[in-house]
Amino acid sequence: MPQEKVAAKGLVERIGIEGSRIKHTKTDSDTTVKDANIPNHKVALKYVVDLLLDGDAGVMKSLSELGAAGHRVVHGGEKFASSVVIDDDVIQAIDECVPLAPLHNPANLTGIKAMKELLPDLPQVAVFDTAFHQTMPQKAYMYGLPYRYYTTYKGRRYGFHGTSHYYVAHRTAELMGKPIEELKIVTCHLGNGSSITAVNGGVSVDTSLGFGTVPGIIMGTRSGDVDPTLLLHIMEQEGMSPAEMSHVLHKESGFWGLSGISSDLRDIEEAMEKGNERATLVMEMLVYGIAKFVGAYAAAMKGLDAVAFTAGIGENSPIVREKVCEYLSFLGLRFDRAKNEALIRGKEGYISIKDSPVKALVVPTNEELVIARDTFELIDNR
Ligand code: ADP
Repeated sequence: MPQEKVAAKGLVERIGIEGSRIKHTKTDSDTTVKDANIPNHKVALKYVVDLLLDGDAGVMKSLSELGAAGHRVVHGGEKFASSVVIDDDVIQAIDECVPLAPLHNPANLTGIKAMKELLPDLPQVAVFDTAFHQTMPQKAYMYGLPYRYYTTYKGRRYGFHGTSHYYVAHRTAELMGKPIEELKIVTCHLGNGSSITAVNGGVSVDTSLGFGTVPGIIMGTRSGDVDPTLLLHIMEQEGMSPAEMSHVLHKESGFWGLSGISSDLRDIEEAMEKGNERATLVMEMLVYGIAKFVGAYAAAMKGLDAVAFTAGIGENSPIVREKVCEYLSFLGLRFDRAKNEALIRGKEGYISIKDSPVKALVVPTNEELVIARDTFELIDNR
């Protein structure tokens, strides 16, 4: 930074379990893959730092070149509407959000604490997945339950994938050559987890994920919206505990639970081509669900200028995009089939024809860039 050039990227896998390894790629060089005993996150980060300093694979001569570390943190509750420099109070606040994201926030804190132990003087920044959605009006984030559950348990819609929706909405405006303040955009982040967001004038005004990461459209293994009384009925009939039902909703539902084939859309598409009825049902439910959200959000924003597709499915599945856009022609979206077929594997651009009143685009997400920008800006302005 600030040139926004990727010097290196990497991944540490299977920390604390057998078969741990680190992958590291210096830009325009070969990837280094190292099998190593990595019992915890501090050791993992030590490997990362050592590789960054390595004579061949490295990109720095000394640690003093490292200006800051940016962390993706899943839940910032109502406390964080933007990224922050991490201090003890911030760590405590992230800790206080653990009940809201019991799987993710402890893991995020582990990374932050390990970095602090390893390089105590390095400034660190937290970028929250929920922050972008803090602009939602109360009518969009409240549930129709007794108000006391909001005040007692912070029970409300938070939304997730905020960094991705923020990036994609801004990039869409850039590609359209218009100020984001003048645009009504629906961003469709479709990955293993999916969410759809209404971005009006650059701010999130509604989003399909909620208190947790289950609602909205069907996902790889998550159910999407379900009538809660059905869940109560199943729990009663089968004597299920909340933890067991939670497992069903998060891990046994969606593409996987409906098809019995796979949670991976590539497998669903393949089975569909062979005539598998359940796979066809999954595809129909997926595109129907996405289209309904786009329609609802066009109403929520009283208009629509563009629909943007991103993440694994949004960036790589022309068939999903085509079927969604078919539903949206009544809104003025004129689809371009040839362009749609050509945009896969990280390619960016329009999938609507030139004069389409409502545009459709594919915009590969870049959460790392947003994290790097926020981190640079916060540290630079200190
Ligand atoms: P995560 O939410 O874990 O970051 P991704 O954004 O990587 O997930 O998205 C994963 C999803 O993208 C999977 O359902 C996968 O099947 C789908 N996907 C990836 N490549 C393709 C492809 N070529 N065609 C259809 N779906 C794809």
